Amino acid sequence: MARHIRDNIFWSCVSGGTIWTAYEVVSMWAFANEIIPYVDWRTEPIYFVALLCGIQFWRLFHFYWAHRLTHWKPLYKSAHYLHHKNINIGPWSGLAMHPIEHLLYFSCILIHWVVPSHPIHMLMNAQHAAFTPAQGHVGFDKIEVGGSDRMPAASFFHQLHHRYFECNYGENDFPFDYWFGTFHDGSSESHASMRAKRKAVHQI
Ligand SMILES: [Zn+2]
Ligand SMILES: [Zn+2]
Repeated sequence: MARHIRDNIFWSCVSGGTIWTAYEVVSMWAFANEIIPYVDWRTEPIYFVALLCGIQFWRLFHFYWAHRLTHWKPLYKSAHYLHHKNINIGPWSGLAMHPIEHLLYFSCILIHWVVPSHPIHMLMNAQHAAFTPAQGHVGFDKIEVGGSDRMPAASFFHQLHHRYFECNYGENDFPFDYWFGTFHDGSSESHASMRAKRKAVHQI
């Protein structure tokens, strides 16, 4: 097995698995001991379902800002550099992060310490954070089936982030990158715009 895959498995399981589990265990304990706000689906069914749907948006929001923060130079040099060792990504690249980044990445779970919710919401949020990076980093944009048929396979958008570093901090499902001028869709126009911005920054 290649060295970098072994390293990725190590960081994903030893650091990622431990920190993900710790967040879940402490949150479940806090629910059980009525320390954090709890919602019963029998008394608040509409709120329960709305929150379940809203978690997708919370993940997109949290991922964008947490990721953007890790590109702040001191955090990049101490933590996020490890994830970016993956230029040519694969499924094990997804959670290959430094423990500091795992703490930040899985802090999306802390919303359940403030916003009234049920353990099912917390588990969905936590498992979404834990399992989607593997699929998002598959390394192939589409799967060809029977010649021309294509199935979406992974996040080409995030793959471009691994290639160029200074674009696509979030996901394509929410327009944060578009709004903040870091959007790159792989086209030559996006590429020219990114290069122009880089040039302007480095000339300051
Ligand atoms: Zn990544
Ligand atoms: Zn990054």
